[in-house]
Amino acid sequence: MSASPLKVSKLNHDDLMIDDIIHHFNGIAKTPLHAGAFELSPEEKIEKIAEHFRIILHTLGMDLNDESIRDTPLRVAKMYVNETFKGLIPDNEPAVTQFANDYRYSQMLVERNITVFSTCEHHLVPIHGKAHVAYFSSGKVIGLSKLNRLVDFYARRPQVQERLTIQIAEALKKALQTNDVAVVIDAHHMCVASRGIRDVNSSTVTAEYSGKFLNPETRKEFLEFIRG
Ligand SMILES: [Zn+2]
Repeated sequence: MSASPLKVSKLNHDDLMIDDIIHHFNGIAKTPLHAGAFELSPEEKIEKIAEHFRIILHTLGMDLNDESIRDTPLRVAKMYVNETFKGLIPDNEPAVTQFANDYRYSQMLVERNITVFSTCEHHLVPIHGKAHVAYFSSGKVIGLSKLNRLVDFYARRPQVQERLTIQIAEALKKALQTNDVAVVIDAHHMCVASRGIRDVNSSTVTAEYSGKFLNPETRKEFLEFIRG
């Protein structure tokens, strides 16, 4: 395997520059990827992961000839590549179109209670919660559902909540061309709820504020919007 930082030879789209990909994965809060992360196509990844799940289930003692679990390895592999971890494939990044803020809305825009489905990278079990994001327009706005899509894209990776929060904030800054963004995530970690300490009530809150949101008054206003 070569020592080049990232190989993108199997990426079959033109609009995403190599620089973008490197920024994307190796920015402030990088998702740790190895040099060959993009060498296999999604289909090849599914095939390989299914093979490995067959071995895992067999090793655990399950009979893979049983009709009920015969297709589980392939089903899980497809779910991993196409859903659970689809944020590891740059092609899946939502296209975000900016519009001019013709109506000159200059106050805070808050999108709250965005559903977060992610996966704890330490235990590979679900993280489930809500994200609240906000920004002040710098003259550009994006479609509201794009905020949900950006959150979802970064959530669909093996994650720690702290990194997810920063990645979303960085993506918003880039998409909205402003530093004035805030992200709060409140989420339950199945690794805390269903194993180890088995606390089903606790949730984890992380926040990333920049630009105008560093001002305590502005932050207070945002936190009031997302309360309840
Ligand atoms: Zn965990």
